[in-house]
Amino acid sequence: MRIVLMGPPGAGKGTQAARLTEALNVTHLSSGDIFRAERASGSELGDELAKYMDAGELVPDETVVNVMAKAIRESDDGGLLLDGFPRTVHQAEALDAQLAASDTPLDGVAVITADDDLIVDRITGRRVCSQCGRVYHVRNMPPKKDGVCDECGGEVIQRSDDTEPVVRERLATYYRQTEPVIDYYRRREDMQVMEFDGTRDPDVVAEDIISSLRSLTASGE
Ligand code: AMP
Repeated sequence: MRIVLMGPPGAGKGTQAARLTEALNVTHLSSGDIFRAERASGSELGDELAKYMDAGELVPDETVVNVMAKAIRESDDGGLLLDGFPRTVHQAEALDAQLAASDTPLDGVAVITADDDLIVDRITGRRVCSQCGRVYHVRNMPPKKDGVCDECGGEVIQRSDDTEPVVRERLATYYRQTEPVIDYYRRREDMQVMEFDGTRDPDVVAEDIISSLRSLTASGE
């Protein structure tokens, strides 16, 4: 199964991706996580990425497509969950071309929705484990011990782009550049685009997405 997970920042893509990866036996590729690892490595590419990320802007398409094409080539063993990529129509076209060339097309697109006020609250309160990436929230889902990941004992931190001004900018970027990608997929007759209300309890959202994806691939067989 090959799926693209979409939605505005803070709609719950990271939380859902962890659940879906386990339930559906797919490899999770998050462009944001890949870029953050690159930054942490201190490479020249990482420094370049940081400029865009900390301003809430998109990294240029050419860089994104190169990095993600390599990650997909190295990890696609039949199951793929793309999270945060593609984020522009140009990236979607490049992804299509790559998947068509390897005869491994997408099965569908899952879009998680949430309104802006909820998103801003979620993101500014969001904390993540710097080691395993597990997502927490200062009020709704804090780690058992302050600053320490329940899962791996790693340090729980706030991402440098999870502040309110950057979140507002990331939302504007999403509406301007990423929403058209959803329309791009909707126009394709061979593509199933499914929407999920991300304001519900994360377990309920996960169940909904998992059962929809399972029936989607079952009906395609
Ligand atoms: P995320 O963790 O998905 O919210 O991504 C964090 C930041 O990484 C974004 O605000 C962008 O600056 C950058 N980024 C991640 N994925 C992409 C992409 N597909 N295209 C352009 N920039 C991206």
